[in-house]
This record gives sequence, structure tokens and C-alpha cells, in this order.
Amino acid sequence: MADPRGPTGPDPVTVARRGLDAGGGGGAGGGPSTVLVLGGTADARELAGLLDARPDLRPITSLAGRVADPAALPGEVRVGGFGGPAELASWITSEGVRAVVDATHPFAARISANAAVATSAAGVPLVALRRPGWAAGPGDDWHDAVDLADAASRVAGLGRRVLLAIGRQEVGAFAAVDDAWFLVRAIEAPDGPLPPHHELLLDRGPYALEGERDLLAEHGIDLVVTKDSGGDATRAKLDAARERGIPVLVVRRPAAPGGPGTVVVDTAAAAAEAVAQILAG
Ligand code: NAP
Repeated sequence: MADPRGPTGPDPVTVARRGLDAGGGGGAGGGPSTVLVLGGTADARELAGLLDARPDLRPITSLAGRVADPAALPGEVRVGGFGGPAELASWITSEGVRAVVDATHPFAARISANAAVATSAAGVPLVALRRPGWAAGPGDDWHDAVDLADAASRVAGLGRRVLLAIGRQEVGAFAAVDDAWFLVRAIEAPDGPLPPHHELLLDRGPYALEGERDLLAEHGIDLVVTKDSGGDATRAKLDAARERGIPVLVVRRPAAPGGPGTVVVDTAAAAAEAVAQILAG
């Protein structure tokens, strides 16, 4: 297929269509109903597969475009920011979207807030897929941080050889920590500044316990720093840390936005079910 961005450079918005009626929102006898999935997570990928398996639905997953080579997704995909909540509302209307699922990462607070505002403005139902956060169990030595700056300020008191597993976007928060060594793990290299003592490990989850155990041992890790992402894809590092008897510094989530009409669910299957109920009702 020809590159839809054309020869003149990147278009921030690309939509890969797959031969269904792409013009209207469909539904009610007019073809499949368009569902916008705000994605960038394993849950969103699972949800896109569930929705795409239904002939009455046309899922479009939206990605921010942070990763140059995202993993393949079922259904249609569009890439790039919308330009703000008003523009997202216009997009929802012009694409004839019948329901929106916010399946973004719990730390992606801005797009979630935009989704709440835009769906309200467009008069379209919003389903928020909020996977539960992680909770410490017996044998865990977890320490809470309120945000990344707080986490950075507390590293030196907890460890010297740190697995920094917070993604690539906010590694700069640790750039001034010069009394610890960091193994910085991310899908792609961070754009911003890095801590003075570090090694970069480019890798993409999901991660299994055995590999995480080996990683911590190989690098002599004595502290794991993570966001409270929740889910199974990246939780093995927490189990490996407990086995090794080392602390984990957990950056807790920002407050989740959402209006009174938002349907909140905690799994992809429940989100697919909520969409089906909305469209049936
Ligand atoms: P953010 O701070 O909440 O959003 C910043 C801006 O990026 C938004 O205002 C929006 O631009 C655009 N954007 C974000 N997600 C988008 C999406 N799914 N589709 C289209 N535009 C999107 O987001 P972020 O924390 O940078 O996260 C970006 C993406 O990475 C999200 O899709 C998220 O699910 C994924 N992700 C984030 C994290 C994390 O720790 N933050 C971890 C794993 C995955 P406009 O205002 O121009 O529309």
C-alpha cells in the first residue's frame, strides 16, 4: 500500500482503512457502527481485537504517535494528536463515532480529560477502561511516590543500582540524580536528558518473571522504580523484586477524569460489553 503520508513529509494524522463503509458512523441498518478507541496500551489492543471480531462494529484505534514503530493492531488505526478537546469533538462528529472508549494509560491524564470534555460536547457516550492499580502483598517492600519528581528525590535513600521502568517520556525527571546508576528500560530511546550514570535498554513488554529475575541479577539491581501502571504485561518486575528482597518505588497515578455519564470498567472484555450495551440501547 502507498504511504498515505505522501512524499512531502509526515502527516500527523493517518488513517488506515480496511474496506468497510468508512464514511458515516453506521449502525441502525447503515453498516457497522464506528467506535473510537483511544489507545496506546495492551488493554486497548485487546479491546480492538474484541470489537474488530464483530461485524456490526468498526473500531478505530487512535495512537498519539509517540512510538515510531507501534505493534500491529486489529481494525483501523489513526495516528497523532487531535489538536485539543474541541478538535477531538469535531473528529468524533465528522467520523460519525457512536461510542468512545478511553483505553489510554492511567498516566496519560491529558487525553483522558480531553476525551471527557469532547464526548460530552459531541453527545457521544464515553467508556473509561481503567485497569486496577497494583497493590503490595506479603514480602513486598514498596514505597509510594506522588509523582516522578518525588520519586527522583527519593532514589538515593533507597538504592544505588536502579531499574528505571517508567517508559521513555519522563526519564528527564531523573536527569539530576547523580548518586545512583540507572538501567533505563524503554521501547525507544528517551528524547530528553538522561541521568549521568546509566545504561539504556531498548525493549518492549510483556515481560516474564524469569527474564526479569535474570535482568535484576545480571545488573546487580537494588531498586526498581515504576509507575503504578497495573495489568499483567509489566508486573513481573514487581515479583522479581520481591524474590530478590529489594525495594520498589511506585509512582502513584494522577487523578482520573470523567464526567457523571462515563461508564467505568476495568477490563477490555467489560469495555467491549459496555460498548455493545450502549449501541443496543
Ligand atoms: P497525554 O499527556 O495524556 O496526552 C498529551 C497529548 O497527546 C494529548 O493532549 C493528545 O493531543 C495526544 N494524545 C495522547 N494520547 C493520544 C491518543 N491515544 N490518540 C491521539 N492523541 C493522543 O498522553 P501521554 O502520557 O503523552 O501518552 C501518550 C500515549 O502513550 C497515550 O496513547 C497513552 O495511552 C500511551 N502510553 C502512555 C504512558 C504514560 O506513562 N504516560 C505509558 C504507556 C502508554 P491533542 O490534545 O493534540 O489531541
